[in-house]
Amino acid sequence: MPSLVQQLSAHRQLTALRAVVRCKAKSTVLREGPAAGDGPGAAWVAFLCPAHSEGLPEWPATATHADQDSMPCGSVLDFRPTEQLLQSHADLWLTPLTGVRPETYGGVWPDVLEQAERVVRERLEQEGDADEDGPLQSIVTMMWFACRAANEGDLMQAAVSLGYCETLAQSLEARPEDGLAPQ
Ligand SMILES: [Zn+2]
Repeated sequence: MPSLVQQLSAHRQLTALRAVVRCKAKSTVLREGPAAGDGPGAAWVAFLCPAHSEGLPEWPATATHADQDSMPCGSVLDFRPTEQLLQSHADLWLTPLTGVRPETYGGVWPDVLEQAERVVRERLEQEGDADEDGPLQSIVTMMWFACRAANEGDLMQAAVSLGYCETLAQSLEARPEDGLAPQ
């Protein structure tokens, strides 16, 4: 791990490793996210290739640093505490995909995730068996694990499952003909 990342993280714990862009190119820049807000250090750092080096609209950075292929393009190291991490998942893909808003459930994450899981499962059922091995099936499975972890009080483990769903959801976006793209 480059020492720059350790420095930017202010030696905080890594809370999530996310893959937020479908791109196989090597990273040449490291974009630094805003301060986490609850202590020193950046909320996240994103590794991007030349094509994506201008940054991602959903990931507004505060600074750019040179990088030499330390991670695949689209890798994000997230240092935010669990609730902020879950909110980020909601903002970036879970609410757009399901219409479920955390504030509707008073930020009670087991309830939020249970409702979101219901929405994706119903969508899968409506789709029939058109694509049994498709990303929606995988999202339903991972959402089930996320719900189970949240119901057991392990929100960090729930966030791990959501991280995988986030990557899977990009495959949905790449196939707008499914009618499953986020609204
Ligand atoms: Zn890229």
